[in-house]
Amino acid sequence: MATLDSLKQALREKAKATASSPKQPLSATQYSAGFNILMRGSGWITYQDFIIPQLSQLLALLFNSRIHISALEIGPGPKSILGYLPGRLKRKVRKYTAFEPNGLFATRLEEWLYSTSETESPLPCLENPPNIHRIPFVLQNIGSGTSTGTGNNDEKYDIILFCHSMYGMKPKHRFIERALEMLVERPQGGIVAVFHRDALHLDGLVCHRTASFPTGVVSVADDDEVLDCFAPFVAGFIMQAVDVDKAIRVKWRKVCRALGRREETHPDHLLFSSPNVMAAFTQHAITLPELMAQVPLAKGDKIVKNREARLHRPASIIRPTKVRHVQQCVRWALKHGVGLTVVGGGHSGHCLWPNVISVDMGAFDQVHILTAGEEDERKSDSNSSSLVVAEGGCKTGDIVTKTMAAGLTVPLGARPSVGAGLWLQGGIGHLARLHGFACDAIVGAVVISVDSGQVFCVGCVPSQHWPVGAVRPENETDLLWAMKGAGTNFGIVISITFKAYAAPTYSIRNWVVPLSDSLEAQLKLSDFDELVASKLSRNFSADAYLYWDNDQLHLGVAMFESSTSRQTFETPTPTPTPIGTVLGLEDNFKVVDSVGLFDTEMYMSGMYGENGGGKTSSFKRCLFLKRIGAVNVADILVAAVGTRPSPLCYLHLLQGGGAVGDVAADATAFGCRDWDFACVVTGVWPRDQDGTEAARTAVQWVYNVAGDLLPLSSGAYGADLGPDPRDAALAAEAFGPNRPRLARLKHSLDPHNVLAYACPLLKAPMEQKLIILITGESCAGKDYCADVWVSVFTRCTRKSLTARAVSISEATKREYAAATDADLNRLLWDRAYKEQHRPALTTFFQGQARQRSRLPEEHFLNVVYSAADVDVLLITGMRDEAPVAALSHLVPDSRLLEIRVKASEETRQVRRGCYGSNNNSDNKDSNNSGSNLTALDYRPSLIFDNDTTGNEAVKRFAEHYLLHFVHEDLQRLAHIVRQVPNFPCPGIDFRHVLGISQQPGGLALCTSLLQTHFTGDWAKVDAVACCEAGGFVYASALASRVNVPLVLIREAGKLPPPTVSVIKLSSHISSLASNNSKEKRIEMERDVVSRGSSVVVVDDVLSTGETLCAVLQLLDEAGISAEDVSIIVVAEFPVQRGRDLLRQRGFGRINIQSLLMFGGA
Ligand SMILES: Cc1cc2nc3c(=O)[nH]c(=O)nc-3n(C[C@H](O)[C@H](O)[C@H](O)COP(=O)(O)OP(=O)(O)OC[C@H]3O[C@@H](n4cnc5c(N)ncnc54)[C@H](O)[C@@H]3O)c2cc1C
Repeated sequence: MATLDSLKQALREKAKATASSPKQPLSATQYSAGFNILMRGSGWITYQDFIIPQLSQLLALLFNSRIHISALEIGPGPKSILGYLPGRLKRKVRKYTAFEPNGLFATRLEEWLYSTSETESPLPCLENPPNIHRIPFVLQNIGSGTSTGTGNNDEKYDIILFCHSMYGMKPKHRFIERALEMLVERPQGGIVAVFHRDALHLDGLVCHRTASFPTGVVSVADDDEVLDCFAPFVAGFIMQAVDVDKAIRVKWRKVCRALGRREETHPDHLLFSSPNVMAAFTQHAITLPELMAQVPLAKGDKIVKNREARLHRPASIIRPTKVRHVQQCVRWALKHGVGLTVVGGGHSGHCLWPNVISVDMGAFDQVHILTAGEEDERKSDSNSSSLVVAEGGCKTGDIVTKTMAAGLTVPLGARPSVGAGLWLQGGIGHLARLHGFACDAIVGAVVISVDSGQVFCVGCVPSQHWPVGAVRPENETDLLWAMKGAGTNFGIVISITFKAYAAPTYSIRNWVVPLSDSLEAQLKLSDFDELVASKLSRNFSADAYLYWDNDQLHLGVAMFESSTSRQTFETPTPTPTPIGTVLGLEDNFKVVDSVGLFDTEMYMSGMYGENGGGKTSSFKRCLFLKRIGAVNVADILVAAVGTRPSPLCYLHLLQGGGAVGDVAADATAFGCRDWDFACVVTGVWPRDQDGTEAARTAVQWVYNVAGDLLPLSSGAYGADLGPDPRDAALAAEAFGPNRPRLARLKHSLDPHNVLAYACPLLKAPMEQKLIILITGESCAGKDYCADVWVSVFTRCTRKSLTARAVSISEATKREYAAATDADLNRLLWDRAYKEQHRPALTTFFQGQARQRSRLPEEHFLNVVYSAADVDVLLITGMRDEAPVAALSHLVPDSRLLEIRVKASEETRQVRRGCYGSNNNSDNKDSNNSGSNLTALDYRPSLIFDNDTTGNEAVKRFAEHYLLHFVHEDLQRLAHIVRQVPNFPCPGIDFRHVLGISQQPGGLALCTSLLQTHFTGDWAKVDAVACCEAGGFVYASALASRVNVPLVLIREAGKLPPPTVSVIKLSSHISSLASNNSKEKRIEMERDVVSRGSSVVVVDDVLSTGETLCAVLQLLDEAGISAEDVSIIVVAEFPVQRGRDLLRQRGFGRINIQSLLMFGGA
C-alpha cells in the first residue's frame, strides 16, 4: 500500500511532467473538501487509536499540576482535538486560541465550540469566547526576532498543538522554536505537541517524548468526483489554467488508482497507508548544546546496521569515551526530562529514534579475559571458571575471536557484528542447548543508573574493572536478575562479566530438501521434529529453514555438533540412520572453530543460490514454539511461507531445549524457557528498496505471521520489540511470568523512563481494566467490602495486580464544600459528619445534575482516568440506576461489573447505630439505595450478602466470583480473537469471535470459561438456548460439557412444526455487510422446552442486542419468562449499547455475562 507521502510525490511528478503552466494554492472550499475525505471512515481511526490516547497521556501529568490550562492550536481544522479529550482534561481548558487560515474551517470551529441550550460546548469551561485568528501562524523576520503575526507576542500557553501535519510551514523546526517561546515558564513549563503524517525532521531539537503509529490508513472512494477533490488536496495545489487543471485531474485519478490498494471486501475503495508520528517538546528542546559541550559527538555519519533505524533522524549521536561521559548523558537527560537510546551493535530498529539523543557505546570495545585463579572476587558466583569482561560496545565477533585465542568461548549468537543488545536480551546461539543463553552466562555488570547517573557494580565484577566511584546498589539482586534477559530497559551497560567455557570445535552438516506440496512439507517438518531434533543430545543442535527457491518450497536443515575434543571430527562419521531416512544424504560437512562458525550460516551461504550473497535488508520477529511438527503448527508455518511477499522471506527455526530449560523461568528475567524451537520470522527485501512499499509489505508479513503463531506459541523473544504498536501483542508474551516483576522494576530503576524506547514493559493504561461498581443500601458495608476486595486482588494474584477503591462522590463533596461552609476533610473521612450532611449533599448533587445533564458520566470518567495506573478499580458511592448498562460504552476497553452489597435491615440498623442517625429516609447512599432488590428493574452483575461479621465471607466471595476476571485464560482467549481491519466495510475493526473455534484449543478454552464464569448453578439449568450461527458453535460445546439439552433457534422455515416465531432485526455486522432485508423471523420448536424451565442463552457476541432481544421474545412466546433466563456471551462490544437496548425492551432483570469486552464497533 503506497503511503500518502509517496502518493503526493507521484502526483507532483505527474503534474510536472504533464504541464509547465502555473500552479495555485487550493481555495478554502477545495482544501476543506479534501480534508473531509481524509477524515472520513478509517482516517478517524488514527485519531481514535493514536492521537487522542497519546495526547491524553501526554497531557495528564501537565494537567494534574495545573488548575487551569490555556491552549493554542495551530491549524485545528473545523474541530479542535482538545474537545475529544476525557472530560476531566478538557474541563481544565479555560483559554483557547487558534490560528486557522481556512475561513470555512474557522467558522465551523467557532460554531462547534459554542454551546447551545441543547448541547454543551466541547470545551465547556472556557472563561472567554475562543480566540480564533483567521490567519496562518507565520514567522516574521525569521532569523532575528520572530512574531506570529497577531501583534501580541506576550501571550503564553500551557499547551501548543500542531495537529495537521504543519501544512505549508517551512522550515518546520523554526515554527516549533517559535511555539516553544510562547510556552508558559512556570516551574514545569508547558508542552508543544506535534502530530504529523510521515516522518518529521526537526534539526537540532530534542523531544521530550515521541511515538509512532505506522498502521494508519486512509480509505478513499474510487470515484472520479471524490478523487478530483482528494488528489489536489494531497498534491497541495491545482493548476491555474482551467483546461490544464481538468487534464491533470484525469491523470491524477490514474495515479491514485495505480498506487491505492483495493481490498477484496471493498473493491470500490482505494487504501493508502498514512503512518503518523507524535513528537512532544518542552522548553528543554533546545538544550542540546549544553550536552555537546561536555561529551564527544560521533564522528561523521555513524552507520548503524539496521535500515529502519537509519530512517530515523536522531537529535544527535553522542559517542562517550569515558564512563563519566555516559553519566553526563544520563544526568543531562534526567535534568531536561528527555529519553535516550543506546547503540550497541546497531542491529535493532530502536537504537536511533527521531529527535532523541543516541548514546553510541562503540568506544567501549575492550574484551578482557581472566583465567581461573587470576581473580578472587568471582569465586562465589562463577564456580571459579574463567571470566570474560566485555565492554558495552563490543560485538559478538570481538568476544568470540578474543576468547578463542585463549581457548575459551561465551555462548553468543550467529553473526559477528551483533552487539550488546543480544546478550542483554537473551542471546540464542548454537551452544544454547549445551550452556544456555548468552544472558545465562552473565555473572556481573557495570551499569550507569538511569535514575541517578551513578555507576553501579552488580554481581561478580573483577576489582580491576570497577570504575572509580562505582557502588553496589541496594537492589543489586534485582538489577542483576533484570540484566539477564531484559537488560536494555534498566541502565546503560558499561561492561558485562561472563563466565567462560572451553572453546569447542564444531562439525556442521547441511541438508536441502525440495518439497512438492504443503502436505509433504508438514510431514517432513513433523519427521524432522520427532525423529531427528527431539532425539539429539545437548552438544547437537538442529536448525530448520522453510523458504522458497526457484519457485519451490524447501526445507533446509543445519545440524551443529560441538566438541572440545578435536579428535571427534577428524574423520566424518556417516549420517545417522534416522536423519538419513528423513532428510536423505547431507549436502556438505564441515569442521570449523568458533570464528569459522560465523561463515557457515545456511541463510548466508546455502539458501537461494545466487541470491544469498546479494545485498538485502531484513526485519525479524521471533516466537517460541513447541512441537513444530504438530499439524496445527506446521500448517501455519507452511502457509506463512506460502504468503511471503518477496521470494527472499523465510522462517528460521532455531532449536532450544537442553540447558535452556534447565533454568527456572523466574531465575532470570528472560522467562520463556519451555519451547523446542525459536521461530524467527524473517522478512527480506533487496536493499535498494529500503523505505519503499516492498519493505513495508515484508515488515507487515512478519507481523501477520507472528500474529498467526502467537496463540500457539509459548512466548515471544523480547529482543528488538519496541514502542511500535504492532509489537504490543508480542511484548505482552515476552518474559513469561516475569513481566509484572519487570514492570515494577522499571518503575523503580527507570522512574523517569529515560530508556523509553526499549521493549515495552509498562502496561498501557486502561488495558482491559476491571472496574467494579459497588452499590447497595446505606450501611450495608460497601466501603468495607471494597477495601477487603482490594486486598484480595493485590494479595491473591501472582500477577501482583494493582487495585484501588475510590468513592465517586468525592467530586461532589469537594464542590459542595467549596459552595458551603462544610469541612471537606470531615466530609471525606468523618462518617457521622457525612451522615449529617447527606440530605443537603443529595440536594446539591441533584441541582448540579439538572444543570449538567452529563454530570454522572463526567464524574465516572474522572474517577476512571485518575486511576489510569490501576488494574482493578473499585468505585463506591454510585448514584446511577443500572450503571453497567448506562456507563460501559464510556469505557469500552474495560470490563465493568456491578456488585450490589446487601444486608438485612437489622444488620444495617446495628451498623447505622455507630453513626447516630435513625432517619432511614435520609440515610441513603444512592438514588436507588432505598429500593429493595426485587423492586429494581435491572439486575446487578453480582449480589453479595453482607450479613455476617468479619471479613471471611467477603474474601471468599472475591476468591470465588471475582478473581477469575483477572485470570490469564481470559487474556489468552482475547488473544485468539483475530482483528480484521476494514471489514465488512471501511472503518470497522472486525473481531473474529467465531474464529476462536477455528483455532487449535480455542473452542475447548472458550467453553471451559463459559462453564466456569456462569454465576448460576448448572445443576438447575434445564436447557441451553442458542441462535444460529455463532451461538450454535459455542452453545453445542457448552451444552455437551455441562450435560444440558440444547434449544436451537433458526431462521424461520428451517425447523419442523409446530414452532413459535418472532421478528428479528438484523445484527450489527450483518446490517453493515449486506443490503438484505433488515428484518427476518426466527423460530424454535414449540415443545422443545417446557414452560417455566430455567434457560441459559449462549451467543458469540452481544453488540446492539437485537439478536438477544429477539431470542428473549421468542422464549417468552414459548412460555419461558425472563425471570428464568440468563445470558452468557463470548464477547461484548459495549459501544453498541446492547445492555441498554435489552433494558429498554423490558429485559433489564436478566443476568448478562460476557467473557470478553472489546472496544470499537
Ligand atoms: C543479522 C542478525 C543476526 C542475529 N542473530 C541472533 C542470534 O543468533 N541470536 C540472538 O539471540 N539474536 C540474534 N539477533 C537479534 C539480536 O540479538 C538483536 O537484534 C539485538 O537487539 C541486536 O543488538 P545490537 O547491540 O546489535 O543492536 P542495537 O540496536 O545497538 O541494540 C539493541 C538494543 O539494545 C540496547 N543496547 C545496546 N547496547 C546497550 C548498552 N550498552 N546498554 C544498554 N542498552 C544497550 C539498545 O538501546 C537497543 O534497545 C540477530 C539480529 C540480526 C540483525
